[in-house]
Amino acid sequence: MDEALRSVKAKRIDVAILSHPHDDHVENLIALVEEYHWPIERVLLSDSAWWFGTATNRRIRELFAREGGAGRVGRPGERFDWGGGEWLILNPPRGEFAGGASEAANVSIVYLLSFNGVRALFTGDVEATVGRRIAAELKAIADISVARRPE
Ligand SMILES: [Zn+2]
Repeated sequence: MDEALRSVKAKRIDVAILSHPHDDHVENLIALVEEYHWPIERVLLSDSAWWFGTATNRRIRELFAREGGAGRVGRPGERFDWGGGEWLILNPPRGEFAGGASEAANVSIVYLLSFNGVRALFTGDVEATVGRRIAAELKAIADISVARRPE
């Protein structure tokens, strides 16, 4: 990630979206801040008790505290216009999946990013039931069909 950021001559990370509290999705943020010293302007994360459930997640919370913010919880229906793109948050519903490890995948922040005429859906690790609900909501709010990503 450090190499990718340097290759596009980035000076900071405007938004870090931590979709859900599984180590494989969040642990590299620690190195980006502590070893490579990337400043992060804002953090969007999911509402989950599991942010306190693993050593990695506790380190991330400590990192936020040191860097001056706890992060902000994303909610469905919120729209952001960071960096000229549009982020539409689609998951998780308020108060759902906020418990421990068994719910951590379905608490993923899911968002539709529209940028330069391209739309991409980021789903974290939501499971099939939640994925089907999101696909149905997408049909209702946007003229899009959802295709599987190429393998
Ligand atoms: Zn996961």
